[in-house]
Amino acid sequence: MTIRNLIPVLGDQLTPSLASLRAGDPARDVVLFAEVDAEATYVKHHKKKIAFCFAAMRQFAHALRQSGWRVDYTCLDDPQNTGSISGEVERALMRHGAERIVVTEPGEWRLRAEMDRWQGQLGVAVDILEDDRFICSHADFRSWAEGRKQLRMEFFYREVRRKTGLLMDGDKPAGGKWNFDSENRKPAGDNLDFPVPLRSEPDALTRKVIDLVGTRFADHFGDLEPFWFATDRGGAEAALEHFIAEALPSFGDYQDAMLQDERFLFHSVLSLYLNAGLLDPLDVCQRADNAYRSGRVPINAAEGFIRQIIGWREYVRGIYWLKMPGYREMNALHANRPLPEFYWTGETEMACLRSAIGQTKEEAYAHHIQRLMVTGNFALIAGIDPAAVHEWYLAVYADAYEWVELPNTLGMSQFADGGLLASKPYAASGNYINKMSDHCSSCAYDVKRKTGDRACPFNALYWDFLARNRDALQNNPRLAQIYRTWDRMDGDKRKDYLVSAARFLKTLR
Ligand SMILES: Cc1cc2nc3c(=O)[nH]c(=O)nc-3n(C[C@H](O)[C@H](O)[C@H](O)COP(=O)(O)OP(=O)(O)OC[C@H]3O[C@@H](n4cnc5c(N)ncnc54)[C@H](O)[C@@H]3O)c2cc1C
Ligand code: SF4
Repeated sequence: MTIRNLIPVLGDQLTPSLASLRAGDPARDVVLFAEVDAEATYVKHHKKKIAFCFAAMRQFAHALRQSGWRVDYTCLDDPQNTGSISGEVERALMRHGAERIVVTEPGEWRLRAEMDRWQGQLGVAVDILEDDRFICSHADFRSWAEGRKQLRMEFFYREVRRKTGLLMDGDKPAGGKWNFDSENRKPAGDNLDFPVPLRSEPDALTRKVIDLVGTRFADHFGDLEPFWFATDRGGAEAALEHFIAEALPSFGDYQDAMLQDERFLFHSVLSLYLNAGLLDPLDVCQRADNAYRSGRVPINAAEGFIRQIIGWREYVRGIYWLKMPGYREMNALHANRPLPEFYWTGETEMACLRSAIGQTKEEAYAHHIQRLMVTGNFALIAGIDPAAVHEWYLAVYADAYEWVELPNTLGMSQFADGGLLASKPYAASGNYINKMSDHCSSCAYDVKRKTGDRACPFNALYWDFLARNRDALQNNPRLAQIYRTWDRMDGDKRKDYLVSAARFLKTLR
């Protein structure tokens, strides 16, 4: 039988309604999946992430076969595997002699550039279709951004609310406000009952992948077991329902909190499923909206959660495609210190960092405030090279794909884009971490001490960061008050901060 189209499906395109599958015909086309070394190692991804991706690909391929598609699947340990997506597409073309390649655009710029070369390299027509699993297309985002002086997420978000009708009462925001963030900053106490994200037991297929990953990527960061991520749509849907019932009602209140012994608090742990295509973002938000309408979830929780998905998630994707490839190279604060070794081992006396990194190693997960205000904040105020910070975040989280990770790391967390994405740097002293967590009470450092050997390193580094980057930051209106405080400080005190910071930075390996 002559094959018409070859439809390569990538590891984060595991959606039955994917544009290229909608355009295909099970009777005449072949769907191609390939587990390739290049994608698992271009940064050395966490073992759990690789296992999740490959297992979810195998599950999705199986589901497509069941629904009548002809599926061609290259496993990682296939002796003929060329190790790259382009290599596997070329081999599949030789096997099937397809007339055309039809593919949904990839999430990452690097792969888009590779696909753009296929037509010339492989000598067949290539259709690259828009990925319409996002609410905002590239063209929509470009036209929203056009002519604006500042690309602030909040204004983008309001437009998406209007466009989708989510949490809208006519043309007014439900609850009378667009944003309930000011109600979402409660520190968590020990007296709360924390739900646990739904855990899936790996089936035989997933077990096989776990064994393969354990052998092939033994030197990668992170623990492979226990492995409890769902790897198919049914499992991801169950995790979503569990979240809405158990955690969403308190999601808002404690969104910014951190606790040493509670890894997930009221967060959803759904990003890996959303980013791989196992959950549909709009559907997830509609279910959260329904939970609010039926009185099961308060407005601050529903709004906070929906804003993360139709606001932040869509917005960072827009920024990524608007600004790549140059965005990746930005380093507005000229930070150039190497990433400390403890980011890979968790071996540090700083309890907050030890906890966030230790959890990352075990779970391939940390929630937003751990990423932003602990590991990200430390890298920012210590002046770590943003390219190294970016590689770390891309490697260690199960939900990390460059389109979402890079703007969050380089822009929001490291201010390396000079304020394109964040209106001020997310820099904070130990005081913030102490207020929002219980880490400081078990730390070798003293959060109340400002300078000296046992003082919390965040304290001196915070002022050192502001002093070091004064030329770049002092005209930022949101930092005016803090620079005034610095200028009013006694000269000896200022000197103590700078000396303490320099001493500490010298100890970083
Ligand atoms: C330095 C840094 C790196 C990050 N890297 C990634 C990444 O590689 N992949 C990733 O998906 N998110 C990333 N984020 C955003 C955010 O931290 C994660 O989406 C979130 O922690 C995932 O956990 P959750 O599913 O429990 O989220 P919840 O707190 O339950 O939030 C609900 C959903 O909203 C979305 N979301 C929330 N915040 C953001 C955000 N800032 N940008 C985009 N989507 C968001 C996610 O899809 C998430 O599942 C990063 C944030 C920072 C500060
Ligand atoms: S004292 Fe400083 S280093 Fe220690 S946990 Fe608190 S903020 Fe982190």
